[in-house]
Amino acid sequence: MDKMNRETLMEVFERLYSHYGPQGWWPGETPFEVIVGAILTQNTAWSNVEKAISNLKKDGPLTPEALFRMDETELAMRIRPSGYYNVKARRLKDFVRFLFENYGGKIEEMFNEDPRILRERLLRIRGIGPETADSILLYGGNIPVFVVDAYTYRVFNRHGLLPEEISYEECQKMFMENLPKDAGLFNEYHALIVRVAKEFCKKGRPLCRGCPLEGI
Ligand code: SF4
Repeated sequence: MDKMNRETLMEVFERLYSHYGPQGWWPGETPFEVIVGAILTQNTAWSNVEKAISNLKKDGPLTPEALFRMDETELAMRIRPSGYYNVKARRLKDFVRFLFENYGGKIEEMFNEDPRILRERLLRIRGIGPETADSILLYGGNIPVFVVDAYTYRVFNRHGLLPEEISYEECQKMFMENLPKDAGLFNEYHALIVRVAKEFCKKGRPLCRGCPLEGI
């Protein structure tokens, strides 16, 4: 894995960025909306999340207070388009309860927490795994943590830059140790990996010809 160095990682980034440009992640009017999106997007397409979020906003702004007060059954009905709606309603309720119990319901207070402590606490909420916790930190809080997902493994493994058997934390460490700790860079980098994986580096067969990463 000696090729996983800063130079290679920056070349990957630069190729993707010059091919695709900025990705504008993560769409959301507020950090809280970004967090709701990060929970709802588990196992579903973003277009379904957008429908669910728009249902949540139909009677007023999407705030922690609004979700705290909303009955769980009503919440589940509104987020139905995102799939697994009962499970996701419970997750959202658990998150909002956590926010009120620990940070007075204030997102800004939550992000003022030491990021390592906050990450550990988020991981203790049922249904929030490393990818969701890190998406909340990076895209909701602009905190420089690298988000890893199945697309990241696929692209970098196919280029011989990541082994098959590697944990989430080990994989994340390889990126964070080799890249400047910059939330803007991490934000774009993850979004660009998702884009190239969806368009070229497909699950069954990669479409290497014409891919911006061809030859790396
Ligand atoms: S499609 Fe081919 S060149 Fe593109 S990222 Fe996947 S393995 Fe690399």
